Amino acid sequence: MLSPSELTILKQTLSAEKKTLIHQSQEGVLFSQNKDRSRQGRDSIDESTTETFYATALRFHDRNKDRMKLIEQALDRLEQGIIHLCVECEESIETKRLLLLPITSLCIECQQDKEEHQETENTDDTISAFGVV
Ligand SMILES: [Zn+2]
Repeated sequence: MLSPSELTILKQTLSAEKKTLIHQSQEGVLFSQNKDRSRQGRDSIDESTTETFYATALRFHDRNKDRMKLIEQALDRLEQGIIHLCVECEESIETKRLLLLPITSLCIECQQDKEEHQETENTDDTISAFGVV
């Protein structure tokens, strides 16, 4: 069980990261708006450089979206007072682990199980993504 001060630390860590992500995604939106504007001009802009920047920003945005989802789930779990419980086996997650990685929802054992499992899943995903299946 987490102490009130540990809970406060978790909440602060998660809120701070959420704020950073919101800030970054706003910059991403600004970036795509600028891109639209420069497209209309189309004179002095190096299109390929812009495309590269845009693709990077988009990838970044997708990653942020996934991370944001995890942060929101963790904050929900914090509100419900279950952030320290593993979603798989309902055992307590080690406090040290939670403080290092507040978005985790699995204990170490389940995390390791999941990672082993994911390696096989990822292989399947790659195959279907290339249309082999
Ligand atoms: Zn577990």
